[in-house]
Amino acid sequence: MSHGSPDVAVVGAGIVGLSTAFALKQRGAQVTLFDPAPPGSGQSAGQSRLFRHAHNDPRLVDFVRHSRALWRQWESDWGVELISDGGSVAIGPAIDRKRKTLDPFNDIPVRTLDPPELRQRLPILAPCEQPAMLDVDGGAIRALSAIGALADRLQDELVADHVLSVRPVSDGQAEVRTGTRCDDFEHVVVCAGRGTATLARGAGMAIPVEVAAHVRLTFPVRGDAPERLPTFQDGSGAFGETGVYASPYPGNRFYSVGLSGTAQVSDDGSLADPAELAAVADRTTEYVERALPGLEPRPVDYVHCWATTLPWGEDGVGVWSANGVSAVVGHNLFKQAPALGEALAQAAAGDGLPEQLRPEARLGHD
Ligand SMILES: Cc1cc2nc3c(=O)[nH]c(=O)nc-3n(C[C@H](O)[C@H](O)[C@H](O)COP(=O)(O)OP(=O)(O)OC[C@H]3O[C@@H](n4cnc5c(N)ncnc54)[C@H](O)[C@@H]3O)c2cc1C
Repeated sequence: MSHGSPDVAVVGAGIVGLSTAFALKQRGAQVTLFDPAPPGSGQSAGQSRLFRHAHNDPRLVDFVRHSRALWRQWESDWGVELISDGGSVAIGPAIDRKRKTLDPFNDIPVRTLDPPELRQRLPILAPCEQPAMLDVDGGAIRALSAIGALADRLQDELVADHVLSVRPVSDGQAEVRTGTRCDDFEHVVVCAGRGTATLARGAGMAIPVEVAAHVRLTFPVRGDAPERLPTFQDGSGAFGETGVYASPYPGNRFYSVGLSGTAQVSDDGSLADPAELAAVADRTTEYVERALPGLEPRPVDYVHCWATTLPWGEDGVGVWSANGVSAVVGHNLFKQAPALGEALAQAAAGDGLPEQLRPEARLGHD
């Protein structure tokens, strides 16, 4: 650390803020982590997420590969499973491109699956002749375990308060005003999910984020739970949808399924048409009836949450940083969180932000 033990505020205790606060604490920084809500109750809510290496931008493949190594490190340090061993299956014509992007990475094992192998790997799927691949080291992120393990390690740093404003003040410091406090910090990292762009605007940064609402449903697996189940992405259209993602719960008795379809948000932040979310949920159940006969098409739980996307792509991520304030925005950040936290901690400690995370680098472009 180049500047002693800096005093850093992190706003937001989702997976990104928790990872950042944890990385800062590991570096010996004094950390205050603000969130009025229980850790992991924003976009990071729910039992599982997909970890996949395949991304259109090879720089992002490299970044998530590093993140995978950090997930492994946490698993080993904490003695808890954070990513399942079932792998990650994708079907559809886009897998040719995915494989080409992954080819140069010799340490990311990827295999083509023929229809019998696909059936064996993913027995809950209807008969399917689509091109298929397996990302062997992908899997289901145990989201609740990850949030719980990080929150346990940050109990002393967590302050249950809402941040109203962040702004640069004198001597390169930044001020944080909360419901009941006003403090100056050497650096403030804003990881407030949907609230990030609003707080960053107060600090003089304009972030071009698009907000929409998502729904994901969980269905029971019929019969005995398979010993291993992969995560699943269907871009084929063979079952009537092209943007499907799905992942198992621990124990493989339940499987979560979502469509990339979102509900639009109005300028005042409300849902343009609340019925849109219900319509996406109905389409998801209909997809399950057609494509996943190994599931009962009867949702047992829902995750509704905001999705914050940058204009350059579904997997786009960027960090805006100036005058003692850094703000991170992107979508599909769960898998990236350990690497993002490490990079944000490095920036907050005065050791510089990796170039590829600057907005102009457009990391994760389509
Ligand atoms: C249904 C769904 C499925 C997804 N699937 C995947 C997937 O398979 N793989 C993947 O990698 N990613 C996936 N994602 C995306 C991923 O979950 C998010 O990108 C990630 O959780 C974002 O984490 P975060 O910490 O940035 O934000 P959040 O989890 O939203 O955390 C922000 C926190 O900031 C707090 N906050 C907000 N405003 C303030 C304020 N003013 N003061 C103090 N605190 C504040 C909130 O209370 C919240 O706790 C999915 C998202 C959804 C919704």
